[in-house]
Order: sequence, then C-alpha cells, then structure tokens
Amino acid sequence: MTFTELKLIKPLLTALDKKGYKEPSPIQQQSIPHILLGKDIFGCAQTGTGKTAAFALPILQLMDANKKPNQRREIKALILAPTRELATQISDNFKEYGENLGFKHAVVFGGVSQFHQVVAIKSGIDILIATPGRLLDLMQQGIIKLGSIEYFVLDEADRMLDMGFINDMKKVIAKLPVKRQTMFFSATAAQIS
Ligand code: AMP
Repeated sequence: MTFTELKLIKPLLTALDKKGYKEPSPIQQQSIPHILLGKDIFGCAQTGTGKTAAFALPILQLMDANKKPNQRREIKALILAPTRELATQISDNFKEYGENLGFKHAVVFGGVSQFHQVVAIKSGIDILIATPGRLLDLMQQGIIKLGSIEYFVLDEADRMLDMGFINDMKKVIAKLPVKRQTMFFSATAAQIS
C-alpha cells in the first residue's frame, strides 16, 4: 500500500516524500480512508505507530477540500492531548505535513505564560492543539471559542482519563458543535466506553 493509494492529495504527498515516509503504517492504512469519508473513528494505537499522521493527514485534506475563497480564519480543527510534550509533537507534525497547504495552527498548554499563545490565537488560526486545562482557561477568558470546530481529535484518551482530565474533557466536549467529525485515539480500549 502507498500513500497515493490512500488518495492523499499532492501537497501532502510532497510533504511525506520530504519526510522520507515510504508507506503508510497500519493505523494510517486503517484510519485515513474512513476519516476522508467523513466518518467518526476510534483508533486503538500506541505512540510510535504513526497515529498523529493517521489523523493529521486526512484532516488537512478535508480542510483543504472544504476551503472557501476569502473565508475568515476560524478554528476548524481541535486536537486535545494530555501533555505539553505530546501537544508540541502534534503541532510540529501539523507544520511539516501541512507545509504546502497554507493553514495556520497554534498550540496551547499550561505551565507557561499565556501571552504568546494568545497572540498566536488572536492572529487567526485554522487548527488548535491544546491540553485541557489551558484550553478551558482560555475559553473562560473568552479568548478561544469552539463554535466553528468541524474536526475534533481526542489523542491518548486513556492517558487523559488516567491523568484525571475527565471533567475538563466533558466541559470542552459540551462546547463543541453537535455536527462535527470526532476521532478518538487510545492505546487501550478498556477504559473508554
Ligand atoms: P506517532 O505515533 O505519531 O508519534 O509517530 C511516531 C514516529 O513515526 C514519528 O517520528 C513520525 O514522524 C514517524 N512516522 C509516522 N508515520 C510514518 C510512516 N508512514 N513511515 C515512517 N515514519 C512514520
């Protein structure tokens, strides 16, 4: 199986070529076609299996396909991750995979000043990668609004529960539009039901 067979568009294929990826990993082969069809998915995958590209590539492709001329930038994709490290890694991946598409993204997490995060958000972004606490904080300040989200990813959902984020996750999900595409990823399926 090749990335071309997954029907990925040229700007993504060029970015993947630059990364040196030769073929999609199993989680990518399984997830990408479903996400491109607009379906919700639950992916069972550990870190290191290529799960970030499994959601980032099709989200970028769908966002590109649904792009409207002269549209105001608003947050279309939200990726929720349990830790600052994972959020940063996801952000780096979106930057690399999306380098030929022109979308803007920002990453927010706690433990640091919110100043630069707020500047980035206010400049207008299409994709937001966030840890739950800081996201809620910025939502409560009215800096982030989730009314335009079309794609929602909950990454490492099991770890999110282990870290006690259940109430924060619920509060975030309650603010998302009902009509959206949802992608859950977890290393284990037992806790998530
Ligand atoms: P992840 O599971 O998303 O953290 O990815 C683990 C590592 O695999 C990252 O360094 C990715 O850049 C890399 N990776 C993701 N997909 C592929 C692929 N299809 N071929 C080779 N490396 C990949």
